[in-house]
Amino acid sequence: MIAGDWFEETLYPQFRQSLKVDRVLYEDRSEFQHIVVFENALFGRVLTLDGVVQTTEKDEFCYHEMIVHVPMVAHGAAKRVLIIGGGDGGTLREVLKHPVEKATMVELDDTVVTLCREHMPSLSDGAFDDPRAELIFADGIDYARSTAERFDVVIVDSTDPIGPGEVLFTEAFYADCARILTERGILIAQSGVAFMQKAEAVSTHDRMKGLFADATLYLTQVPTYAAGYMTLGWGCHSAEPRATPPEEIARRIDALKLATRYYNAAVHCSAFALPGYIASACGAR
Ligand code: SAM
Repeated sequence: MIAGDWFEETLYPQFRQSLKVDRVLYEDRSEFQHIVVFENALFGRVLTLDGVVQTTEKDEFCYHEMIVHVPMVAHGAAKRVLIIGGGDGGTLREVLKHPVEKATMVELDDTVVTLCREHMPSLSDGAFDDPRAELIFADGIDYARSTAERFDVVIVDSTDPIGPGEVLFTEAFYADCARILTERGILIAQSGVAFMQKAEAVSTHDRMKGLFADATLYLTQVPTYAAGYMTLGWGCHSAEPRATPPEEIARRIDALKLATRYYNAAVHCSAFALPGYIASACGAR
């Protein structure tokens, strides 16, 4: 919500973050959600959906690099990748740094894609024009239920579990994701800031535990996802990708010549180390 010169995020009843609005570039309701793009001197351009910060030009790399490179490097040979959500294009941009054959992105709201391409072009950085990219406008839950395709990595880059993103946190959706993954396939789902959204992290992990041989959470730190570590749910049909030795992770990163600002081999390995309050809440290992 914009009040005067400030955008006030209303995600939690007892805690609010505010960002100074230097200039509003867009504010309207799409068919699915209320969208605002504004400028802030510290974070650059900021995208908000239904009153919640989704991404900013200056800190997006902390999220997009981690949601993509951890599963892609751990898998080691992913050729077909599915992104659910991700309308700003940052996840697609990072996936396309890998030698994939095809990256399919299923996004509900074409307005988010159009606006981000226009007002925040560094997020997708040409990714939508890459011949390996396929963009489908549909509800992710319908796509996962009905597709005959199979994927090596599925990345759920969704909004919070309120509004249109709610279905992307259900057991039925994760079960469909598990079904459309290949043998060593990995499912990653953003599962909120652990301190603030404990129930989201716990339920994501519980659901993945029931569906995968290997399930855990891993962490990243995103300045505008305030109040501590953000968790990403990990589910894999094999225990082997997560157990890839650190030297092999480093070797793969070197071979890919990945240009990153957050992700590196040490961060990859340490991201699975969970502080006690997160590990005990989720029973994650
Ligand atoms: N990084 C962000 C975060 O964690 O806050 C998420 C970014 S991305 C903009 C989220 C996208 O998910 C939005 O573009 C939204 O339109 C899309 N989305 C929400 N519900 C969806 C659904 N059911 N199917 C496909 N995409 C959906």
